[in-house]
Amino acid sequence: AIPLVAQLSTAIGAKKGLLVRSRAALEDARNIQVVLFDKTGTLTEGKQGVANVVAAAGLDGDEVLALAGSVEADSEHPIARAIVAAAGPLEVPRATDFESLSGRGASATVDGRRITVASGRVVTERGLDLPAELEVAGRDASAQGKTVVYVLDDTSVLGLVALADVIRPESAEAVAELQKSGVRVAMLTGDSREVGDWVAAQLGITEVFAEVLPGQKADVVSGLQKDGTRVAMVGDGVNDAPALAQADVGIAIGAGTDVAIESAGIVLASSDPRGVLAAFRLSKATYRKMQ
Ligand code: ADP
Ligand code: MG
Repeated sequence: AIPLVAQLSTAIGAKKGLLVRSRAALEDARNIQVVLFDKTGTLTEGKQGVANVVAAAGLDGDEVLALAGSVEADSEHPIARAIVAAAGPLEVPRATDFESLSGRGASATVDGRRITVASGRVVTERGLDLPAELEVAGRDASAQGKTVVYVLDDTSVLGLVALADVIRPESAEAVAELQKSGVRVAMLTGDSREVGDWVAAQLGITEVFAEVLPGQKADVVSGLQKDGTRVAMVGDGVNDAPALAQADVGIAIGAGTDVAIESAGIVLASSDPRGVLAAFRLSKATYRKMQ
């Protein structure tokens, strides 16, 4: 039988915008010691927009953006959607043989050339030379918290696209209140170290796991769980699902993907990260009454 108090708490939670999918998660939420937040789409709105495009010397910015738009036409990633929207007014050639490079970028063939749009990691992995003007522009954009992706062909870096996201207005309070309640707060992202550190600094988070590939997110959670530390993970993306499942309590952003929601015990229906503390409080109130 379901304890009546827990049933009532589920209803109270619903009023506060908390959807309790697993009663075990509601019960465990009172004992959480570390909250690990995903960055994009969780602490930020995840509605990226193209801020600026920089072409390598001798190339044209619109040409670089059009190539990127061709490659990204078949990708669902928020970065891809932003690039496609920005390239909309341009003449965008049709790409073939699209390939998604999980957690890194995307490639496709455009007018007989293999073009890739990807993170700086890929530039390094392929041993490509990063022209000085792009290095400077990339560093400047990252230092302002912008996500930078590079546009490459097989032999060189053609340009970069900088994308701006918006930190959710409720995130700073969510982090501060959790910290005040004695919970350790950390952040996890597939984005670069610079952008990760910038967003974390805006929010008073000092523990940042950056440049984490999708397959490694759950390992970050299990790393934190060593010595029995109880960890809650908060995320929105397909990439976050294994980490949500690995955490002692998985919490999904309501506006997130179905896969994230199905992997979580609690869902923040209003996508407000302050709901994490509300869930912990509801858990404490519920299980105090039952003892
Ligand atoms: P996050 O943790 O922010 O959700 P992802 O794991 O989805 O990040 O992506 C990590 C990084 O890989 C992005 O910051 C970007 O540099 C690159 N990336 C992923 N998908 C794409 C894409 N479709 N186009 C360009 N870059 C991408
Ligand atoms: Mg995300």
